[in-house]
Amino acid sequence: MTFKTMVRKEKEQKSSFVEKDSAIVDGIDISGHWNKMYQPREVMNYDVTPLEDLRALPGAESIGNCYQCAQCIGVCPIDNVGDYGPRKIYRKLQLGMDLLESADLWQCTTCMNCLRVCPKEVNMIDIMPAAREKAILDGKEVPAELQEMFQNCAEYGNPMGESPRKRARWAKKADVEVKDLSKNPEPVDVLWFVGDYYAYHGRGNDAAQAMARVLTKLGVNFGTLGAEERCDGDSQRLAGEKGLYEMLAEHNIEKFNSLEFKKMVVSGPHAYNAIKNEYPKMGGTYDVDHYTQFLSAMMDKLKPLMTKEFAKKVTFHDPCYLGRHNGEYEAPRTLLNAIPGIQFSEMFRNKEQGYCCGGGGGGMWLDGFMADNINERLSENRVKEAIAVGAEVLAVCCPYEVSRFEDAVKSTGNEGKLEVLDIIEIIDRCIEE
Ligand code: SF4
Ligand code: SF4
Repeated sequence: MTFKTMVRKEKEQKSSFVEKDSAIVDGIDISGHWNKMYQPREVMNYDVTPLEDLRALPGAESIGNCYQCAQCIGVCPIDNVGDYGPRKIYRKLQLGMDLLESADLWQCTTCMNCLRVCPKEVNMIDIMPAAREKAILDGKEVPAELQEMFQNCAEYGNPMGESPRKRARWAKKADVEVKDLSKNPEPVDVLWFVGDYYAYHGRGNDAAQAMARVLTKLGVNFGTLGAEERCDGDSQRLAGEKGLYEMLAEHNIEKFNSLEFKKMVVSGPHAYNAIKNEYPKMGGTYDVDHYTQFLSAMMDKLKPLMTKEFAKKVTFHDPCYLGRHNGEYEAPRTLLNAIPGIQFSEMFRNKEQGYCCGGGGGGMWLDGFMADNINERLSENRVKEAIAVGAEVLAVCCPYEVSRFEDAVKSTGNEGKLEVLDIIEIIDRCIEE
């Protein structure tokens, strides 16, 4: 019986409802003052059609599992700075809210912390993309910032709307050779998927150049897709643009398949998630490592190269899509703990319980929209936590995070107190020229 049918039947039965003092059900006496509800009672007068329609979407079925235990609310990073979480969304749906028309649709960063604790496996990582896709297809209102990002990816293959021809420009200042396999498709050991923020963002360029130098020092035979690389598409998929994701993934898979390489290394956790978990569904299966995994497996070679001290107090932010989504917590810590002179300390919310930076699931392009819905940016909340543990450096290993946290350092008035560095930049600084 569907939920809607059940509510209708309850309404029909209401007029004939008679409460009894005792009852024998299937031969069992279930009488008792605590158990007088022998027939279902009407529990709501609201139109639950939007809830029923949402549950009917492939991927969104588990929203109906919620039994309001509220485990999820305590761990939801949005609720930490606002009023959100699966339990609250489900309750609003019970009261007649249409999620497809609500601002709640776009706030979830798909950080996965609620799924980690939910006893009923209410899976926002599937629910939100399904609901967002439906909203987009139905022509519902999509935040303007997100629409612009979708448009840029469709036209230029990257969220910034930069020319694909400029994608490989960062390599000119790396001071080492970066093989552009789109121009010269020779066999390599490692195909490095650079990613949009490393390729186009000023601070991302710093990390990309550091990575090229470190790989060169390690003697790795690597190359990139150069101007032929496109956005990995994972954030677009999670933000509801499945068609756009498929277009980007198809392009990348075609380019990967035209080259000869043994392993793929990616700069970012979102590309890692896409290539490891999503591209195989489209026929693209590769041996892929996040760069922290690749380098931490080479410690015997890397450690002797790091002869310069980095004597600073450092803390580390776990990216949701490397940690919770893909279970990798140790590789970044292995690298950080090998840095000479480092004083490393954890933040309170770390590893499985790590706090989201706000950039996942499309959040990277929703700062303006989120400002209207939450009290504080998630990145600002996190920067305050890094300051609270006495860190001088907030180490990251996601290309979204350097820009997010550097903005947050400024907006929280902590400029000069906290430096945000990609782990690869710290490693590069420790290697003698
Ligand atoms: S933890 Fe799961 S079952 Fe409990 S309120 Fe949240 S979504 Fe519902
Ligand atoms: S995935 Fe993260 S942001 Fe989304 S509802 Fe769950 S805990 Fe909140």
